[in-house]
This record gives sequence, C-alpha cells and structure tokens, in this order.
Amino acid sequence: MEKSRPFVYSTKINNTEYLPIYIISEYLYCQRSAWLHLFKEEPRDIPTLEYQKSIDEHRATDKKTTRFRKANIKETTSTELFHNELFLIGKADIIRWENDLPVPVETKPGKARDFPNLKMQAILQALCLEKMTGKPVKKCELFFRDDKQKIIFEINDNLKNYAINLVKEFREKLKIGISAFKKASDNRCKLCIFKFNCHPEEYFYE
Ligand code: SF4
Repeated sequence: MEKSRPFVYSTKINNTEYLPIYIISEYLYCQRSAWLHLFKEEPRDIPTLEYQKSIDEHRATDKKTTRFRKANIKETTSTELFHNELFLIGKADIIRWENDLPVPVETKPGKARDFPNLKMQAILQALCLEKMTGKPVKKCELFFRDDKQKIIFEINDNLKNYAINLVKEFREKLKIGISAFKKASDNRCKLCIFKFNCHPEEYFYE
C-alpha cells in the first residue's frame, strides 16, 4: 500500500497540493459553492436543517471500525483516502471488501436521489482506492439513510477519465480565481449556506 503524503492547505493552491474529494463533487453541483467551501468562506446564513442533519449523520461513520458481514465480506468505516498523482485526499464512510476487492459505500442523508455529484464522490474514492491498494474497483454504492435505499453503479474507464478530467479542469480554474467558478441561480441557491455571500443584492437590498 502507498504511503500517505501530508496535506498542505493554502489559499494559493498549486498543482501538487492536495484537494479534498468532496470539493470536486461539490464542483459538479455548484462551481461557486466548491470555491467557497475550499477557501473557507464564512457562511453568513444560518445553516439549513438539511446541512446540519448531514453533519450530524456523518458522525455516525466517523469512527474507525471493522466488521464482518459474511466470511467473504468485511466492512471498514472512516478510512482515509489519498491519491498521490491526482493529489486528492478524502475519507470513505464505508469500504466494503467483497472477496478481497474494495467497494466504496458513500452514505447520504435524505431519500434516494440519482445525482451526478453524489456519484462523483464515490468514483473519486474508487480512484484513490485503486491507487492505494493496487486492486480494481468495479462498482460503487450510494446508501440513503432516510429510505434505506441503495444506488449501485459500475465503474468503467469512461467514468474514471471523466473524474480525472474534472479534477484537471478544477485545477485550471483555480489559476484564474473565483470568477472562473460559475454561480448557480436556481433552486440550488434557496437552501445553500452561502446564499448571502453569493447573492447579497437579493438579501440586503430588499
Ligand atoms: S448560493 Fe447558489 S451560486 Fe452561491 S454557492 Fe450556493 S448554490 Fe452556488
């Protein structure tokens, strides 16, 4: 297994500084939100119930544990992930080992929804796991806590290349700065913790 490198955090990110996986998946949801999360922009809004719920529920998988489901299935929680070529770091909620092959399982609050950004998080975890263990990842799983539904999807080279290119695109935009990260202007903003930073004209000048 490869050794982890230290995560270096700076507001001037270069191509060899490590990016959190969740930032890339957030980028697929809203580009501006990803930038604001990365540079720790202070939310000026009261976090929404959904946001708080997400934080609270993630604590459930925040401890490192190992459990055996069957003779050939083992699960580990809260595993640190890294990729020393894409310079990514993250944490897998659950890794299920099926016949000694890893399957990243990302748990989410709420009901099942087939969102590309949620899948992206699992795909990037898969890339890290392949690099760290030298074993192929053939599928990923999203598990939704409210309705206990799963979305299982297969990983292929197209998905992996899409994820790799997204990381590269994100790094290119970092060279330009915040203006390269497009704002959303739709229902996504209504529940967003950054809406006051992003759209002050709507909230301060009514
Ligand atoms: S308020 Fe809208 S544009 Fe701004 S970060 Fe949130 S979702 Fe993105």
